[in-house]
Amino acid sequence: MEDNLMIIDPHVHMSSRTTDDYEAMQQAGVVAIIEPSFWLGQPRTQVGSFQDYFSSLVGWEPFRASQFGIKHYCTIGLNSKEANNEALAEQVVELLPLYLHKENVVAIGEIGYDDQTPAEDKYFRMQLELAKELDMTVQVHTPHRDKKAGTIKSMEVCLEHGLDPANVIIDHNNEETVKEVLDRGFIAAFTIYPKTKMGNERMVEVVRKFGSDNIIVDSSADWGVSDPLAVPKTASLMLKRGISREDVVKTCYQNALDAFSKNGRMKEEHWLAPKGIDQSQLFNDNSVLRGQTPRIDSEQIS
Ligand SMILES: [Zn+2]
Repeated sequence: MEDNLMIIDPHVHMSSRTTDDYEAMQQAGVVAIIEPSFWLGQPRTQVGSFQDYFSSLVGWEPFRASQFGIKHYCTIGLNSKEANNEALAEQVVELLPLYLHKENVVAIGEIGYDDQTPAEDKYFRMQLELAKELDMTVQVHTPHRDKKAGTIKSMEVCLEHGLDPANVIIDHNNEETVKEVLDRGFIAAFTIYPKTKMGNERMVEVVRKFGSDNIIVDSSADWGVSDPLAVPKTASLMLKRGISREDVVKTCYQNALDAFSKNGRMKEEHWLAPKGIDQSQLFNDNSVLRGQTPRIDSEQIS
């Protein structure tokens, strides 16, 4: 965008998005993204489906992003909805440590509650223990129904398990939940949904009222109605509405970087000194091109 800001979208499901989205995001200033593992709409029936999905988040998708000049990281976890299939959930949890050690994995996520069932509670707690053991950041999905109670419960359970709230990102906040989250020392992320729920006009007012400390903007764009440009658009709107550039940088870039770089895998140098796009590269013999001339920037001086 014309504002020349670097943007991080720390919650976007790129596996569901197109190469046009990657191009538009890169042009809008998005330098890095985090793709949380989550539900695919169609419930999975076998552990192998999870394994292949996790593999794509640490393999194919970072490659695809790199072909459009964006650095891709991910979070790995068992989502709340599929925690309700306990026989499968048990196998998925066993699989997690294999992936949590991969080089682009920056947190355990997105985990938490959907319907707040006993099974969701059990696997949320199990994964919090894993986070503690591995000293990893946690990205929490808060329920869309019964939001306030679900958000408070999520935080209480994290504290009960001895997690440092500064290492926990509570996502999908709104005006009703933000104060509690910040007061308890957690990081408050906001998903900007087009048309409904949390729109970006409302986000501007949240930052005006609560400031920019520990507040993060994301798109959660996925296979549903959503906008992969939600973060750059919100950054632009904030500037237009008189929010200071410093606050915009914190909420749309720096706070996400600080929150997700704690295990040392997410580094500014990955995009400040880029190698350039090289679309002649292949991943398992496949490219993202369909007969086009590859864009190759490798000759450029960085
Ligand atoms: Zn999500």
